Amino acid sequence: MTEHTHSSSPQTSPTAVSVPQLRATLKGQVIAPQDAGYDEARTVFYGGFDRHPAAIVRVANPTDVSHVVALARESGLELAVRSGGHSLAGHGVSDGGIVLDLSDMKNLQIDVEGRTAWAETGLTAGEYTAATGAHGLTTGFGDTGSVGIGGLTLGGGVGYLVRKHGLTIDDLISAEVVTADGRLLSVDAESHPDLFWAIRGGGGNFGVATRFRFRLHEVDTIVGGMLVLPATPGVIASFVAEAEAAPEELSAIANIMVAPPMPFLPAEHHGQLVIMAMMVYAGEVEAGERTIAQFRALATPLVDTVVPKPYPEMYEPMGRGPDEEVARSMFIDSVDDRAAETIVEHLRASSAQMAVAQLRILGGAMARVPVEATAFAHRKRRIMVALGAVYEHREEAAVHEDWVSGFAAALCQGDGGVYVNFVGEEGEARVREAYPGSTWDRLAAIKGRYDPTNLFRLNQNVPPATDG
Ligand SMILES: Cc1cc2nc3c(=O)[nH]c(=O)nc-3n(C[C@H](O)[C@H](O)[C@H](O)COP(=O)(O)OP(=O)(O)OC[C@H]3O[C@@H](n4cnc5c(N)ncnc54)[C@H](O)[C@@H]3O)c2cc1C
Repeated sequence: MTEHTHSSSPQTSPTAVSVPQLRATLKGQVIAPQDAGYDEARTVFYGGFDRHPAAIVRVANPTDVSHVVALARESGLELAVRSGGHSLAGHGVSDGGIVLDLSDMKNLQIDVEGRTAWAETGLTAGEYTAATGAHGLTTGFGDTGSVGIGGLTLGGGVGYLVRKHGLTIDDLISAEVVTADGRLLSVDAESHPDLFWAIRGGGGNFGVATRFRFRLHEVDTIVGGMLVLPATPGVIASFVAEAEAAPEELSAIANIMVAPPMPFLPAEHHGQLVIMAMMVYAGEVEAGERTIAQFRALATPLVDTVVPKPYPEMYEPMGRGPDEEVARSMFIDSVDDRAAETIVEHLRASSAQMAVAQLRILGGAMARVPVEATAFAHRKRRIMVALGAVYEHREEAAVHEDWVSGFAAALCQGDGGVYVNFVGEEGEARVREAYPGSTWDRLAAIKGRYDPTNLFRLNQNVPPATDG
């Protein structure tokens, strides 16, 4: 019998976790430090988070979730809640605490006639999309198949269908959530409407979501793929203008970067500045081809894989994230020639292995939902920007931090604001930027009602309002 005592939270005095007792209580798998699979189980998408939890619990059902939540509450141990493990801040793993890992909970019930699906939160975006895609149906998630639907949905969800069908939360009909007191709540517009509002953008602050009920859309053959164009300031500004003017069926993600030596890119273009754009036209194929032709006309494409294909094929396999990276995200409202020049200058100036400015052109269905309707308050913003640099040696961190801060400051257009799922370990001021104005106060009040002791704090944290 092995017992581990760890001290991780400044707010509490943790007591021991008895692994044998946990194993006896739970249906799911408990992985402890001495177990063979421990190192793999504590690994999250991004390197650089070398944390050693006291136990990792791969929960099997909501009852297990309640038990683990109770254990965290009673022991005072820090609780990390993980779905797909892609948190930019490494929130999916705790040092010394308990990891509640939902990745074994992958049940999916598709109601083809009713156009809805109940999905357990251990599913990844790719798994869900492949299964619903077999029926020509989908719900919009992000741009990467391995991201968990848990974290992505709770933060909002911005992806390939954002202009056509809105954010992921715009298709969330209801959810089941285990709150800090261990109860399993059914949450929708009628039942716990305050919580339903908060979990649509407020992240993991309010409880453990065990499953979601989503609306499904008919999205079968799309016109989609990758279009690589040379990135001059003129082409960048025109690309953004075209993407804004395009029908809502089109959602585009433009990654502007120095072309890496990737096999699909002709060698003579390696090292040149390119727009590596991911495009999805979710509508009639001929209209899609006409829309994509506008982009092909901006410059001679260097690579063009945009073809009619089943939507799930947009999710290609991807490896683990880098160990060393700086990133900064924000919303802006336009990319004119000046902004495009700023982008080119900063990317050229980076000494990183890989530096990228990602632009996501928003609007459409996402912007038609009222700002106050959910805890995602950036509905009216036109473009989401993510700047990043991947580098080799930790000692270089300061150089790249300066670069990303300077780049962000140069692009900033007044209002600030950031999407919570694109925030790393950046401090409380940035979390407040994710929840501007009354959104923060409303979230803090609801947090006060459902999690007054801030049990769910290893996240982009909104502390409970004391009078909540
Ligand atoms: C390569 C990559 C591509 C991305 N692309 C997109 C994109 O296109 N669009 C987009 O919107 N976002 C995107 N993201 C951001 C992504 O949405 C967030 O990182 C998200 O938090 C990941 O969810 P996860 O479940 O995989 O991560 P996890 O690390 O498992 O979870 C992140 C946090 O969410 C909370 N959480 C997760 N599951 C639950 C649950 N079931 N109940 C309660 N709380 C939970 C916890 O607080 C947890 O710390 C991307 C991230 C990466 C790394």
